Amino acid sequence: MTDQAFVTLATNDSYVKGALVLGSSLRSANTTKKLVVLVTPQVSDSMKKVLHKVYDEVKQVDVLDSGDSAHLALMQRPELGITLTKLHCWTLTHYSKCVFMDADTMVLTNIDELFEREELSAAPDPGWPDCFNSGVFVYRPSIETYNNLLQFATERGSFDGGDQGLLNSFFSSWATSDINKHLPFVYNLSTVSTYSYLPAFKAFGANAKVVHFLGRIKPWNYTFDTKTKCVREMHQPMVVHPEFLNLWWDTFSTRILPLLTEHGVVKDASSGLKAEEITEAVSQLSIAAPVPSMSSEERKERWEQGQMDYLGEDSFENIKRRLDTFLK
Ligand code: UDP
Ligand code: MN
Repeated sequence: MTDQAFVTLATNDSYVKGALVLGSSLRSANTTKKLVVLVTPQVSDSMKKVLHKVYDEVKQVDVLDSGDSAHLALMQRPELGITLTKLHCWTLTHYSKCVFMDADTMVLTNIDELFEREELSAAPDPGWPDCFNSGVFVYRPSIETYNNLLQFATERGSFDGGDQGLLNSFFSSWATSDINKHLPFVYNLSTVSTYSYLPAFKAFGANAKVVHFLGRIKPWNYTFDTKTKCVREMHQPMVVHPEFLNLWWDTFSTRILPLLTEHGVVKDASSGLKAEEITEAVSQLSIAAPVPSMSSEERKERWEQGQMDYLGEDSFENIKRRLDTFLK
């Protein structure tokens, strides 16, 4: 089907790493759909070249383009920058139906059957299951919908400051109107859930179709040992179920790294790759874009907005450690 596509977004070279793994995972699963990645001008030319190796279409979008409606919306709601960029996926009207996937997701199996669903189909959010998670959703490109979304964003903003709040308010009947629009959770299994409901993960985790590395710390913030094929936990948060993270890294090192080397990206320090580690063929790999650190005030604010850093500073291990210290 050439009028159907998987679509993702990357506004910088770090998220491109995610997009490359996602695209590669879709190819490995033999998808028959087109693969499209939306990029912004911040993405480097060399990374764009590599994206062309994996994606059928690399489309540059620029929210700050001359007086279009997105630009106007952004002027009034500057906080919605990346959110409005994501909305560009509705402008891909040369496709009749699409599945948007965050760049921090990867597929474990073919999920082409999602195209049988209608707009707007998505899986529940693990934090508030009456909302859908906007990391994976089925939609129908349409300029009319795009303009309505922009207008909605300008007038109402987003209750969480991001695309998920906006889309949930816009497609507000999702929770109650049509069960066919509720994708099973296995189509957007957030890595957070692997320990927030462990028995369910043990029972159903093996059916996972899409994993989503939701949260502030992304797979590319870790360091990987190519010999043991495991992420290293030194200086980095404990990972309760590293299986998916290891799989992400395995895909990155076996499929993406050769492409990056071929295009000379690995030697480019600005890409965040530690070139010497790779060229000297040492066994440990790190493309660690250092995790941006946060002040405790910022963290408190994030907690209050429901954006806990489950895999990082707010991980169960860290909370437990704090409690233990406190109790002692
Ligand atoms: N994104 C991006 N650049 C950014 C932040 C986000 O390109 O600086 C895109 C990317 O596709 C990402 C999606 O927007 O997967 C949603 O953001 P993220 O996955 O970081 O949010 P989370 O799923 O952790 O809530
Ligand atoms: Mn995400």
